[in-house]
Amino acid sequence: MHAMVRRSVFAAFIAVLSLAVWAEGGAAGAKGVKAVSVRLPGPAFAALETINPERIRWHVRFLSHDLLEGRGTGQRGGDLAAEYIATQFAEYGLKPVGDGGTYMQKVPLVGITTLPETRFILQLMPGADITLQPLDEYVAYDQTQQPQSDVDAEIVYVGYGIEAPEYNWDDYKGVDVRGKVLLMLVNEPPSDDPKFFKGKALTYYGRWTYKYEEAARKGAVGVILIHKTDMASYPWEVVRNSNSGEKSYLKLEGSALKVASWIQFDVGKRLVAASGRDLDKLMADARSKDFRPVNLGTKLKAHMVSKVRHFESNNVVAMLTGADPKLKNEAVMYTAHYDHFGIRPDMPGDNIFNGADDNATGCGILLELAHAYGSASQKPRRSIIFASVTAEEQGLLGSEYLGKHPPIPAGKIALDLNYDDVKPLGAPEEVEVSGAERTSFYPVVVATAKEFRLAIRPDARPEAGHYYRSDHFSLARVGIPSFSVNEGMKFKGHTEAWGLAQDREYVEKHYHQPSDEYHPDMDFVADAAMARFGFALGWEAASLPKPVAWQPGDEFEAARVKSEDVRH
Ligand SMILES: [Zn+2]
Repeated sequence: MHAMVRRSVFAAFIAVLSLAVWAEGGAAGAKGVKAVSVRLPGPAFAALETINPERIRWHVRFLSHDLLEGRGTGQRGGDLAAEYIATQFAEYGLKPVGDGGTYMQKVPLVGITTLPETRFILQLMPGADITLQPLDEYVAYDQTQQPQSDVDAEIVYVGYGIEAPEYNWDDYKGVDVRGKVLLMLVNEPPSDDPKFFKGKALTYYGRWTYKYEEAARKGAVGVILIHKTDMASYPWEVVRNSNSGEKSYLKLEGSALKVASWIQFDVGKRLVAASGRDLDKLMADARSKDFRPVNLGTKLKAHMVSKVRHFESNNVVAMLTGADPKLKNEAVMYTAHYDHFGIRPDMPGDNIFNGADDNATGCGILLELAHAYGSASQKPRRSIIFASVTAEEQGLLGSEYLGKHPPIPAGKIALDLNYDDVKPLGAPEEVEVSGAERTSFYPVVVATAKEFRLAIRPDARPEAGHYYRSDHFSLARVGIPSFSVNEGMKFKGHTEAWGLAQDREYVEKHYHQPSDEYHPDMDFVADAAMARFGFALGWEAASLPKPVAWQPGDEFEAARVKSEDVRH
C-alpha cells in the first residue's frame, strides 16, 4: 500500500518535468508566495527513486544498537558511530573533506564544572556585601576556560542587552562597557508588529546565548541575567538544572565572559533597590527605544573556581563534486547530528541512551541521501556536502564548529538542510520546514511540497524559538540559509489527533531517555519520504542560477553579506 502511494507521488512528480505551476493559495501557510515551476532532470528522478526506507531502517538499527553505547560525545560509542558513517561515505564514492584528507573534522571541546569554592558576592554599597547561594539564588560559569578567575567590577544595567540595527534598536547606545558586569533581561522588547523583532516570534536577540556573546564582544567581563518565569518561558528549576554539573563548550577561539550567570528575580529586585531604583520601573524603561544603560553603583565580586576538562570528538564530512565547472565551487549541504547521551554508569537499570529517533533517524536519512547522490548517473551543478555533526546534545557544538570551519567558505554554501529526530511513523501528509519562509528558496519549497502532496505545517509556537535550538541554526548564524526538514503531525490512515498523541507520548516517555530505542515495527516510509523531499530540494538548490538568500531584513542577512564579501 505504501509502495502504491509513493508511485503515484512520483508519477505526479515526473509529469511536472515539463512544467508545473503552483497556484496561489494552493498550499497551507503559503499565501503571497510567488508561483515557481519545479523541474528535476531524469537522472535526478532515477536517483531519488532509489531512496529506500529499509536501508534507512538498517542504519538506524545499527546506530542505535546497545553496542554503540548511546553514541556519547567523546566516548567510544560516539567514535564508532563516526567511523561507521565515514565508512558509508567512502563506499558511496564521496570525497573526504575533513582534516588532512580524511572524513573526520576534529572538534576540540572543553567541559567546565563550577566548583563549590566559587564565591558570588553582590556589593550593594561599600561595606554591604551579600553572598549569594549557588543554585538557589544564582548559577554561574566561567567561559574563559581557566581554572580560576576573579571579577571585581561595577554593575551596569543594559535593559535587554540587544544591539539590532535592522530593528533600529540599541540598548548600549555606544556606552563603553569594557571591564563591566552587565545586568540584563532575557527575551526581547514585546511586539505584535511582524516587522519589529518578528512580532510574537522569538528572534535570536531574545536568547540568552546571544546576550552573553554580545556582552563578550563589547569587552564586558560578566553578565547577570535576571530570571523571570514569564519572560524566560521556563521556571527557575530549568535554569538551575541546565546550569549545574559539567557544561561543554568549543575550545575558546574569541573573547569570553569570566562570569556568565543568572540570578533569581527577587535577588534582582534587591540588587536594584540598593541603588535606590525599582526593578519594575527599570524593566518598563527597557521597552523604550530611548533606553540608555544605567550604572547602578553596585559591584559584583566573584571568585570563579572551575574544573576544566579537555576532550575531543569528530564531525564526519564528505563531498560530491558538482558537474558545473564554475558552480562546483559552491555547494548545498545536508546535516544531521550523530551524537546522543552515551551511557550513564551511575544509573540503575537500562542506562544506554540509544537515541534511535534522536538522531539515528536523521543519520539514516543523511546516509540514504548520500547513497542516492552517489549513485546518480548525472551529478548536480553545485557540489553536495554531507556532514554528520557531533555534540548537538551538548549545545549544537559540532555544528557551531562546522559553521566556523566549513570545508568551503560559508559564503559559497548555497543552502543547508538539516534532519533531526524524524520519527518512523508511516506515510507523512505534512512537512515542517520552519525557517524556509525566511529565505528566497521558499517558493521552491512550496512548489516541491505540493508535488509531493505534503501540506506545509506552520510552527505552532514561534515564540518558543525552536529555530535556535537545532543544528541548522549554527549554519544560519554564519549566514548560510538553513532550515530543518521534518514530518508534521498528519500521517496517512490516521487523524491529526493520533499524530499529536504520538508526539506527546514520545516527549513524555522517551525523549532523551534510554527508552528511545529501535523497534522492528517502526515504519521508515516516513523517513524515506522526508529524504526524497529533501533530495528534490537539495537538487533544485544545487541548480539555481544564484545561491539562496535570506529575505531582506532578516536577522541573518548581515552575516550572509559578510560571508559573501570574503569570497570575492
Ligand atoms: Zn536530542
